[in-house]
Amino acid sequence: MATGLNQANGQRYHFDIYALLEGAQELYFGHEVQVNVNLVELVKVRLPNGEEVEKCYLSPTKRRGVERRALLWAPTGSGKLLGDVLDCGIPKTCAKQECPICNVYGGLITDSKGGRERTTFIGRLTHGGGVAIQDQSPEEKQRAMHPSDIHRGGDGEEPMPFRRQYNQPGLLYPIYNHCLSVTDEEFRPVAYAFQDSLARIGAGNPKGVRLAERAKTPMIVLDRYLVPKGERPVLSPSLCESEEAYNAFWNAAKQVEGKPQNDDHISATNFERWTGQAALNKLAEFADAFVNEVLKKR
Ligand SMILES: [Zn+2]
Repeated sequence: MATGLNQANGQRYHFDIYALLEGAQELYFGHEVQVNVNLVELVKVRLPNGEEVEKCYLSPTKRRGVERRALLWAPTGSGKLLGDVLDCGIPKTCAKQECPICNVYGGLITDSKGGRERTTFIGRLTHGGGVAIQDQSPEEKQRAMHPSDIHRGGDGEEPMPFRRQYNQPGLLYPIYNHCLSVTDEEFRPVAYAFQDSLARIGAGNPKGVRLAERAKTPMIVLDRYLVPKGERPVLSPSLCESEEAYNAFWNAAKQVEGKPQNDDHISATNFERWTGQAALNKLAEFADAFVNEVLKKR
């Protein structure tokens, strides 16, 4: 069966973003509630020595949701938000190929009405990683009132205390975004959403992560390629030491065609890589193009 994708007016590429994020303060990534405790999501990892540890987790599906929302809530030149201009939302995605969000993130229409049939539009952007490096357990804190009670307004009742777990500050999360067969133009909203979402990751408050840095270099890599010639900075979940994580990430970032490279922009046949600040600058270039060509014109 054909993919149904329109022919692109230009070369398609694969794009990868690899980054090491650091929790800038405690963070809550809601998972489930147990006897009045809001729990964070944890994963079990078996280390090479057979020991099993529990690690905090910044799940890729949650990151994906934050990114999609960053696009839906993006400001346009008309004063409307992009999602309102496009009539696209969560969970009611428009699933149109002309929508710069659904085009890469995918969309789903669950019931046929208004001339549109039930349809699944497969996304070409996937998210990975998120298992914390340090095996530090979440801390539980008491809060005076649940945010949903504050929302309901003052009905004069006593505030209901509740307990919530938090991922501790300073945890490192290696994360990855991969795009399959997209043009430069189609990648622009992905670059915009990746950067815009960093300040908004987390449920409730506080929110936000930063790009981890070593010797003032942000730990980030951007690849655009037809043949994957760079070593992929994907970290093993069994790594528990932050120093080892920085080294493993940065050594892989520098490795293209089996050789260490010194430039922050590495170009080979059918492969380009930007690392550190150069990667951020390149992402900003794509994001600027999205703002100028799409957001300001809507
Ligand atoms: Zn849409």
